[in-house]
Amino acid sequence: MEPLEIGRIEQELEKLLSDTAQALSKADQPVAVEEIRVKTLGRRGGLNQFFNLLGQGVLTAEEKGRLGQKLNAVKQKLEQAIQERQKKLDKTAGARASVSEDPTLPGILPQGGRLHPISQTILEILTIFQEIGFSVVEGFEGETEFHNFDALNIPPEHPSRTESFDTFYLAKERDAEPSRLLRSHTSPMQIRFMQGRQPPFRIVVPGRVFRPDAVDASHCFQFHQIEGLAVAPGLTFGDLKGVLTVWARGMFGSQTRLRFRPHYFPFTEPSAEVDLACIFCAGKGCRVCGQKGWLEILGCGTVHPAVFKAVGYPVGTIGFAFGMGVERIAMLKFGIEDIRLFFENDLRFLQQFP
Ligand SMILES: [Zn+2]
Repeated sequence: MEPLEIGRIEQELEKLLSDTAQALSKADQPVAVEEIRVKTLGRRGGLNQFFNLLGQGVLTAEEKGRLGQKLNAVKQKLEQAIQERQKKLDKTAGARASVSEDPTLPGILPQGGRLHPISQTILEILTIFQEIGFSVVEGFEGETEFHNFDALNIPPEHPSRTESFDTFYLAKERDAEPSRLLRSHTSPMQIRFMQGRQPPFRIVVPGRVFRPDAVDASHCFQFHQIEGLAVAPGLTFGDLKGVLTVWARGMFGSQTRLRFRPHYFPFTEPSAEVDLACIFCAGKGCRVCGQKGWLEILGCGTVHPAVFKAVGYPVGTIGFAFGMGVERIAMLKFGIEDIRLFFENDLRFLQQFP
């Protein structure tokens, strides 16, 4: 073989290199790269034809050495170029796979916020009262003995004022300070509201209250109340019954029946406890109502004259008041049997209230 022919072979090898590089740059699938590899480096590939020349006895020993070196260099370059292209495609495919491994799987929903079942119940109760003209006002959780007890006609010897039994008193910094406490009901806000205003008005007061009760399935040291107060000339007990019936039907359905039983509260006279015809058995008697057919649901009455006197209203002022426990109503409404569930922050419980 003439030296010229070696030169031509070398030119062809260079062309193989540049053609392969161009083909690789266009190969955007691993299968295309593999095709190029077979075509150039495979057993019957382009490069092997040149290797075959070495064994055909047409080249001198010197030419064989020169061509052999050249072939090995070209082979190395081809292998490297193919490998690099393959790596690059693998990398892109990997990145794509990590964001969409299986597009048919459901996505991960972000945790949405929602209202606690107690907040939902408070809002529902308040909305009904607002629809019949009541305004919502809120008081303080820390109160004075005057607002929590004295002004509400609860005398100093009343058992509910017993320290460490019915009331959380707050520590005093100086003995001369008046006693302060965590409110044991939302009624102090009735006093605060009346101290600054003249009737007529109707308000509802939602809020958290505190009593040192031992915690069990139906008691907790904190719970929520909603208090109502209406003061206007000419109001009667009939108005009170009407307001509570409208509320109960809005809350539990249009067939709901209420029963008023005489009771005693220091701040109302006359007073009544109100029972709801059992919403689970329609009054027939079941496990929830203890076979009685009625569920205790709230207390109410005509405001005691001593309360109006404490806020400086004239003799003859007329009004009615009522108060209910929110947890009790939420437990009835949602069929919850343990009050502690409300305060444990267990998402498995809370997520059941959309
Ligand atoms: Zn029942």
